Amino acid sequence: MTRTLNRLKGCMLGLTIGDAMGAPVEFMKRGTFEPITGYRSGGKFRLNAGEWTDDTAMALCLAQSLIDSNGFDPIDQLDKYLEWIDTGYMSCIGKMVGLGKTCWRSLFNYRRKGQPYTDIKSEKFSGNGSLMRLAPICIYYANNLDLAVHYAALSSKTTHGSPIAVDCCRYFAYVILKLVHGVEKDTLFSDSFVSDVHKYFTDEPLHKALNSIIQCEYISKGVDEIQSSGYVIHSLEAALWSFYHTNTFEEAILKSVNLGDDADTVGAITGQLVGAYYGVDGIPDKLLRRLSHFDLIEAVSEGFFSHEDAFR
Ligand code: MG
Ligand code: MG
Repeated sequence: MTRTLNRLKGCMLGLTIGDAMGAPVEFMKRGTFEPITGYRSGGKFRLNAGEWTDDTAMALCLAQSLIDSNGFDPIDQLDKYLEWIDTGYMSCIGKMVGLGKTCWRSLFNYRRKGQPYTDIKSEKFSGNGSLMRLAPICIYYANNLDLAVHYAALSSKTTHGSPIAVDCCRYFAYVILKLVHGVEKDTLFSDSFVSDVHKYFTDEPLHKALNSIIQCEYISKGVDEIQSSGYVIHSLEAALWSFYHTNTFEEAILKSVNLGDDADTVGAITGQLVGAYYGVDGIPDKLLRRLSHFDLIEAVSEGFFSHEDAFR
């Protein structure tokens, strides 16, 4: 397996592992639960240890859509999201769990009107529901950064049209692919990377709500200054902060989910990031073996990774 493929697989598996690790403490206030140290049962959806939620199910729908459609097709993606809601397609326990409010409203509108992009564009609806499932876009377009960033935005717009949510996806696609293609961790948090980001997004600048994240201001923040809510800016900052303050895949996931609140989704976002950096080889075997429906994730991934010989 090439280094690039190793990292792309890590990105997809990282998403699912972060989701599964955080699910038992989703919506719980930081400090009110026994810290997560591995897979655990429980949580709002009473899942078994290693089972995952909407974050992974929607990412698998998106991955399968990219395979079936030979690329980006928003209608096919939305149809698959609805199939997940209606029949439990790509779910972990045979039915949909965890559908977020903005996704629900956008999918409800799509069912009625059939439009490919949501008309929910207010900044009030800047949830993390499009960022949590981004990995398949980065993987599919891994050899073309411009396309990856472009489709990261459109992927968000199927459910989350807020410019803040859209721009978090554009920025995150950029960061993930830089890591996949060999940018070192120290570089990611350096002044030179900050100036590269500004240069890359000159024509279509990122929303000002991302300024503090782009400048890596989270580096000097203590845990009490890091929020882990479903607001996409909070989730993205929490993920980058967790990566910065740890040294391995597992440590980063644990740090992120133990922030509580939207723990599964902060875990899924952190997982994409650290999976893209440490690669599947950096994921402890016990986390892969005990992940629910590992075969399904492997099967989707195999179809997914085989589309592009360049990764091999
Ligand atoms: Mg979830
Ligand atoms: Mg969540």
